Amino acid sequence: MTHDAIVVGAGPNGLVAANRLVDAGWSVLVLEAQPEVGGAVRSDRELDPEFVQDTFSAFYPLAAASKGIASFGLEEHGLTWRHAPAVLGHPMPDGRWAMLHRDREVTARLMEEQHPGDGQAWLDLCEVWDVIGEQLVTALISPFPPVRAGVGVLTRLRKAGGLDFVKTLLTPATEMGRRGFDGPSAGLLLAGNAGHSDLPLDAMGSGVFGLLMTMLGQTVGFPVPEGGAGMLATSLRRRLESRGGEVVCDAEVLEVLVEDGRATGVVTADGQRHAARRAVVADVIASRLFGGLVADEHVPAKVRRGMKDFQLDPGTVKVDWALDAPVPWASQPAYAPGTFHVADSVEQMTEALGQVAAGVIPASPFMLAGQMTTSDPTRSPAGTESLWAYTHVPQPERTVRDGGEEVRGVWDRSDCERFADRMQARIERLAPGFGSTIRARRVLGPHEMERRDANLVGGAINGGTSQVHQELFLRPVPGMLGRPETGIPGLYLGSASAHPGGGVHGAPGMNAARAALFHSRVGRLDPRRR
Ligand SMILES: Cc1cc2nc3c(=O)[nH]c(=O)nc-3n(C[C@H](O)[C@H](O)[C@H](O)COP(=O)(O)OP(=O)(O)OC[C@H]3O[C@@H](n4cnc5c(N)ncnc54)[C@H](O)[C@@H]3O)c2cc1C
Repeated sequence: MTHDAIVVGAGPNGLVAANRLVDAGWSVLVLEAQPEVGGAVRSDRELDPEFVQDTFSAFYPLAAASKGIASFGLEEHGLTWRHAPAVLGHPMPDGRWAMLHRDREVTARLMEEQHPGDGQAWLDLCEVWDVIGEQLVTALISPFPPVRAGVGVLTRLRKAGGLDFVKTLLTPATEMGRRGFDGPSAGLLLAGNAGHSDLPLDAMGSGVFGLLMTMLGQTVGFPVPEGGAGMLATSLRRRLESRGGEVVCDAEVLEVLVEDGRATGVVTADGQRHAARRAVVADVIASRLFGGLVADEHVPAKVRRGMKDFQLDPGTVKVDWALDAPVPWASQPAYAPGTFHVADSVEQMTEALGQVAAGVIPASPFMLAGQMTTSDPTRSPAGTESLWAYTHVPQPERTVRDGGEEVRGVWDRSDCERFADRMQARIERLAPGFGSTIRARRVLGPHEMERRDANLVGGAINGGTSQVHQELFLRPVPGMLGRPETGIPGLYLGSASAHPGGGVHGAPGMNAARAALFHSRVGRLDPRRR
């Protein structure tokens, strides 16, 4: 059967693209390799039937801020956002906490208690964000070049402080928390949030990312879907199907068909051909799309050349725990945070991420973690906690050595368990007795992640590095100019490998769908009609 569009992959970007296309009246078929939809937005009960674990991603400030996702009205399809009492916490070795609360006055009060003057400095930073933040977010996620959104930023720049604000944006995350703040909290929050990307914390770009994530936390919070991350994907699927879209799981696409110079369909692992009248949208990592799915002879030379230098982001190890009790913090935070970060200091975070870049498995990894039952009480029985933590490690083939000298970097079961012990010990230091609360544990290393989602190559979570040399008009390769068009008419890149990259905001999927609709409208799809 022929559809107007075939979407390869039912990650958040694929599902967003498919929803946008059915809204335009297109017939859409989504083909997903895994037994269920969601990609890195899934949940499961593998650890204990009473516990919901988010298999990969968990907190969705970017989705909550996305106008595209908001326009779908997913609440009508089963999505309910839940918030923890506090957005983010960072326990310090001396017992203090850096805390981000959705009420900026509370965040400021807690900072003021640590260092007089920091509270007002925080409120001042929030006010600058009020002036320009929304335009900045829109500019960052718009298709390239972001002309209208860029004008929005420029018209507000003066009010936001002009060149002073430009300097703030260019300041690395390691320094940003020192600009106007004397206590430790602002720096830990900004640098910790910058550490959600793989930008080196002392490099340009890290500061703006840290500021963006922190201010999103301050404005929209870090919400989670009630019942598990998978509910976000499920609501996208339900909406799609309610409008006539089709989803087939266990359907891995092995080939994108290109005939007469345009993409005309795909072939799945069972040998079936699925024809696409107008577009194929690939929610597939660029290295796979241009490294096998499309035959080499069809890949434009400039894309092929660019892909030789395509850089993955680092690998990841994620540990999930089912706990019989809440985390027994040595020192309780003023408000229970959903997300928490583990590092003794900004310097230790910088060192750990620098080690990853140098091919060294950190002895003291910088960890991002989530207290899911604190965020959404439906995740596990009352009085228990569904907890996870993940950290980055070098891509397997780039691993030089272990900073702790017991993990070989091959990420077999033994490596995974040894490294999980190391991660667990980091939490035990902050919460003595943590180990005795553990009912069950699961470790997902880089290879296991890739088995569960082929886009997570070697545990890369962002579809390619988000360092400046592979961002904006350079994403995923210079020849594509940050656009979803692949150079093969009818084939669009709609995964996190496309601008604006990783995170659950749906922008690459939305941009790919819009480009397909535009080309269809102006009749540019068929090269013979150009
Ligand atoms: C451990 C982890 C934690 C994260 N935490 C967060 C977080 O808290 N918040 C946040 O915003 N982001 C987070 N992220 C990042 C975010 O999840 C990803 O950036 C996002 O899911 C990318 O969406 P995508 O649709 O491009 O790709 P994916 O979500 O990876 O989905 C791609 C889909 O395509 C399918 N597929 C691939 N190839 C084929 C093929 N040939 N045929 C058929 N199907 C195919 C895959 O099976 C998969 O279902 C995290 C990621 C990971 C891995």
